[in-house]
Amino acid sequence: MKKVLESEFQKEYKKLPQKSFFAPGRLNMIGEHIDYNGGLVMPCAITMGTYLLLAPNSDHLFRINSANFEESVEIPLASSYIKSGESWYNYPLGVIHFMMQDKCNLDGLDLLYYGNIPIGSGLSSSASIELVTAFALNDFFSLGYSLLELVLLSQRVENKFIGVSSGIMDQFAVAFGQKDKALLLNCNNLEYAVIDSHLDPYLLAIINTNKPRKLSASKYNERVGECALALKALQEELDLTYLCDIDSVAFQQYQYLITSETVRRRAQHVIEESERVKKAATALAGRDLTGFGKLMYESHDSLKMLYEVSGNELDAIVDYALTDKNVIGARMTGAGFGGCAIALVAKEGFQRFSAGLTVYYAAKIGYSPTIYSSEIGRGVCTWLSALPEIDHPDD
Ligand code: ADP
Ligand code: MG
Repeated sequence: MKKVLESEFQKEYKKLPQKSFFAPGRLNMIGEHIDYNGGLVMPCAITMGTYLLLAPNSDHLFRINSANFEESVEIPLASSYIKSGESWYNYPLGVIHFMMQDKCNLDGLDLLYYGNIPIGSGLSSSASIELVTAFALNDFFSLGYSLLELVLLSQRVENKFIGVSSGIMDQFAVAFGQKDKALLLNCNNLEYAVIDSHLDPYLLAIINTNKPRKLSASKYNERVGECALALKALQEELDLTYLCDIDSVAFQQYQYLITSETVRRRAQHVIEESERVKKAATALAGRDLTGFGKLMYESHDSLKMLYEVSGNELDAIVDYALTDKNVIGARMTGAGFGGCAIALVAKEGFQRFSAGLTVYYAAKIGYSPTIYSSEIGRGVCTWLSALPEIDHPDD
């Protein structure tokens, strides 16, 4: 694939790229709707990602192209930039903007991106393009940012330049992900542990529901509000900072403080899911994949029944997974209402799983899902001539 992109670069810019970079997408293995409640999440980097090839130019211009989009742009070097409508190149532009604000010494570059993450389906192609850009510029111009500073700068792009108020998990996982490791991350203080996660003889199937994107932000905000109500009610008797500060035994005792049945169920999900994350870390580290898979199913059930953020599409995938003996666990991943599900599938049974699920899902939902096989991959890096862990069908 590198050769194809290099010749694409040459066609576009009439010269060879000088350096290439890669940043993965990410998924959350377990711990959903926990980040804003003070608990631990468990993201990992995946083997799909965004590639960036670049070379300097002497015209003091940023020429920005993507093999995924028609639109391209040439932008003169300036000390600040503003967002340009809904253009895809706002992401690199935002990175350049904040680096210029930091008084970085940038100069003209020709840039070509290519990504094989399905865009807009919750695998964070946005954090991936932010990080690959930030990492590449930092490397190429020797700017001296630490990896954590690049994470924070990329989050600033997402929040302040693009205008999406998302947490830190995506950028963190894209930057700090490691092959065959999950990250156990506290989003409040960014403390994290690295968990050995050898999935062999299973792989991570990522199933895109392909549900047309609807604005789920209002539901998301509703859940955030319900968690705040639950916390406030519990704080009448308990000294808590976050909902995840209480365990499920204490919750049983004090849940009467929450008068709304709905709010109580939301809190129950958060508190039990937070405990599941810790159990999941133990299971993974001890190579108990069956135990981990069971926790995935429990997580899905809780998100469906208690937190009510699943939907027919995600449920259909998990329902099918439960009938296939090649699968030991499945759940929705991300905020919900659509996006992707993940499943732990025996490698040799993946093709059968994929074919069977496609038929089942299409009959039930009316259109097909897209199913990818992935492994836990590494974080943002320089793309050397060979990155054997990155598996691409079009290599
Ligand atoms: P998600 O992060 O869930 O994939 P977002 O809507 O947050 O979805 O981000 C998707 C946007 O990121 C795209 O619309 C595009 O602007 C940008 N993007 C991601 N990958 C690429 C790419 N390979 N080339 C150009 N733009 C990309
Ligand atoms: Mg995104």
